[in-house]
Amino acid sequence: MSKKPGLTVLAGPTAVGKGTVSTYIRDTYPEVWLSVSATTRAARPGEQDGVHYFFKSAEEFDSLVADGQMLEWAVVHGRNRYGTLRSSVDAAIAEGKSVLLEIDLQGARQVKAAVPDATFVFLAPPTWEEMVRRLVGRGTETPEEQQRRLETAKLELAAEPEFDHTVINDDVRRAADELVSLMGLTPHGR
Ligand code: 5GP
Repeated sequence: MSKKPGLTVLAGPTAVGKGTVSTYIRDTYPEVWLSVSATTRAARPGEQDGVHYFFKSAEEFDSLVADGQMLEWAVVHGRNRYGTLRSSVDAAIAEGKSVLLEIDLQGARQVKAAVPDATFVFLAPPTWEEMVRRLVGRGTETPEEQQRRLETAKLELAAEPEFDHTVINDDVRRAADELVSLMGLTPHGR
């Protein structure tokens, strides 16, 4: 199935490595315009405001939503809010850029309702066991948080048929190159 390039949404289960793939794309593919989301969660060490996220207070996030500035937004893992700023994405698309959103499944569904001709890519783990290993291996979340993320991941895996394409994250470079190809660009990651 070929869709017109412009807006591509990458979603997939928790700990499948969406962040790693999008970091690789940020570093390797300047021709991809990677959307920077707003979030109410606190910055992790090394994360920069305006680069990895726009870090917002709950009140600031509320007013962005109230002003209609979010293309989509969701509460992820039952805790913090994350959302895509509509104006910057619209401007990038209008300028003919290849726009990539790395968002959760709830957000992907909202974008599908708003922009049905976008390209929707599901990032899948090679196996369930590998996904669990990655989740636990990250070591940044408590056991309760890990359990909650696994429950979310099971539900998210079932959403694969809603997507136009599936990319298996067996290797970050290979997966990123496949994603870039699906965006209509030439992979050069190797
Ligand atoms: P983290 O807190 O680990 O950076 O991200 C947690 C989750 O939030 C990831 O699954 C990521 O895809 C999702 N996420 C990041 N930005 C957005 C966004 O703008 N909208 C939505 N719906 N989810 C997002």
